Amino acid sequence: MTANILDGKAVAAKQRQKSAVRAAEFKAKFGRAPGLAVVKVGEDPASAVYVRNKRKACEECGIESFAHDLPATTSREALLSLIKMLNADDRVDGILLQLPLPKGLDSTEIMDTIDPAKDVDGFHPTNTGLLAQKRPGLRPCTPWGVIKLAEEYQLDLVGLRACVVGASNIVGRPMALELLLARSTVTVCHTGTKDLKAEVQRADLVVAAVGKAAYIPGDWIRDGAIVMDVGINRGADGKLCGDVEFAGASQRAAWITPVPGGVGPMTIAMLLSNTVDAALVREQRARAK
Ligand code: NAP
Repeated sequence: MTANILDGKAVAAKQRQKSAVRAAEFKAKFGRAPGLAVVKVGEDPASAVYVRNKRKACEECGIESFAHDLPATTSREALLSLIKMLNADDRVDGILLQLPLPKGLDSTEIMDTIDPAKDVDGFHPTNTGLLAQKRPGLRPCTPWGVIKLAEEYQLDLVGLRACVVGASNIVGRPMALELLLARSTVTVCHTGTKDLKAEVQRADLVVAAVGKAAYIPGDWIRDGAIVMDVGINRGADGKLCGDVEFAGASQRAAWITPVPGGVGPMTIAMLLSNTVDAALVREQRARAK
């Protein structure tokens, strides 16, 4: 079998176009564009690239982006006070805190301070809790992007034996919750998992979010499985690659995401979508008062 490619770049472009239309309708109705504050602390080069891409994506979509670039020496108090100021700013519908933060700043404390109604990353415990209770609010962008990608290709996830490899707060755990919501039967693997190979081998759907280049050998993938590779790694050849060994896996899977061009573009697309959603909910709530 040679796998069909799940083209995240094309699906993300379609999603972004939808968000652009919704952002324009929002502006026509409420007299302002949806607004996203992007907060970057320090000089991490990868973060600088991500932040630049997110701001550019906002501009292209008709979302106003508010840039807050702070030095690595920023104190806890100064960062908390900026977040509180953004929480209170009516032009700001979404707040994105680029991670990782410099040493000495507690990202959990800072993220918990973001108003859940403006938490367009979907990382706040309130939004995670809502997802866990089957009543999603703002959903974590990467896992939601995986679900949207599957939806776009009309892949039926109901009843699939899904194996999520990775259990982080930002990818693996919310991914498991999304798949539960989609009515898959979910197993979550992590460094405590005793026999990862056996778990992957019996999965109809593998979502890989380990953060290790080609860590999952292609011959672990079951014939006809769906492979969603969240990992973004630099391989030994210097090129970007995922957590799954692509060449081998694509001989067995029915569907597979490439890296780059798979899940990655979906993450930014869902961030834009969340920002427009947050703006609409905030305006509706303001009018209901
Ligand atoms: P993370 O916080 O480092 O979490 C990695 C997870 O993998 C942990 O739960 C860890 O288990 C598990 N793990 C590590 N080694 C393992 C092993 N040998 N066997 C089984 N499980 C293992 O990483 P993350 O933030 O979730 O990101 C994962 C990957 O996705 C990275 O490559 C990152 O760059 C990428 N990413 C991509 C996007 C996108 O838009 N495509 C977005 C976010 C992240 P423990 O919990 O036991 O430590």
